[in-house]
Amino acid sequence: AVTPATLAAISFGAKNGILFKGGLHLENLYGIKGIAFDKTGTLTQGQPKVTDFLISDGLAKEELIQAIVSIEGQSVHPLAKAIVNHFPVRDLSQEEAVIQDVPGWGVEATYLGSNWKIGKAAWFEEQAVQQFYYDEAEGFSNEGKTMVYIGCDGKIVGILALKDIVREEAKNMIAALNQRRIATIMVTGDHETTAQVIGKELGLKRVIADCLPENKVDAVVALEKEYGQVAMVGDGINDAPALANATVGIAMGQGTDIAMEAADIVLIKSDLAKVVTAYDLSQRLHRVVW
Ligand code: ADP
Ligand code: MG
Repeated sequence: AVTPATLAAISFGAKNGILFKGGLHLENLYGIKGIAFDKTGTLTQGQPKVTDFLISDGLAKEELIQAIVSIEGQSVHPLAKAIVNHFPVRDLSQEEAVIQDVPGWGVEATYLGSNWKIGKAAWFEEQAVQQFYYDEAEGFSNEGKTMVYIGCDGKIVGILALKDIVREEAKNMIAALNQRRIATIMVTGDHETTAQVIGKELGLKRVIADCLPENKVDAVVALEKEYGQVAMVGDGINDAPALANATVGIAMGQGTDIAMEAADIVLIKSDLAKVVTAYDLSQRLHRVVW
């Protein structure tokens, strides 16, 4: 049965931008030993901007941009939107690309008789990646930028670097959790270097990178074995299964509907400080009830 104290706690949460979908989740939150965080859209604002664009020597830049916009214009990935927004509107009289999103990797397309692949470095041959502006790409990654590779007919022809801004409350939130001896872990599909740089900047205890959407659940299950019960915070479609599987799933209110549906708790205004507020509330409630 729901006690008056639990109801009071849920109501306190509601007034403070934390939607608990039931008293049970407050109880579960009490016992967690770790919290896993998605990166893009959760620890960061999720509105990356293109900062750098490098292409093969002698390539027609305008035509390459035309191809990129035509392909990414049809992808549903948040990076795709950022890339399209970066390039002013182009000549749309050209043939339309036929695309297919490959979750966790990128987007594949046919456009003007060529086969295109736009996505993460690990999707391309390692040797090809090492031969294409490798030092520059490493430099961008070390600045916490996300790298996107552009391949045409089996060759890398360009790279884009995108920078996302970390949420301003993220660092203090992680510090507060560390102080409470809650393990903090990033679980992201982004590249190891990029993820590590942002993880260090925010003071996270651990980073799990290059995680495919379907592997986020496995990551949460493994973390629960290692640390005890774990909460997961996320915003994306690809976070939903992990949110449903974690002992406590916490969704960002400005995230996708699917993430909010799968979660037990919703942070209405996507304010990460409320993760700590919710945890502290569960501790206080426990003292009152038992
Ligand atoms: P995250 O867990 O950070 O939200 P995702 O699993 O959504 O990551 O994507 C992982 C990686 O796949 C991205 O960092 C990006 O490199 C690549 N990617 C996916 N879709 C696209 C796309 N449409 N355009 C460019 N890159 C993409
Ligand atoms: Mg995300």
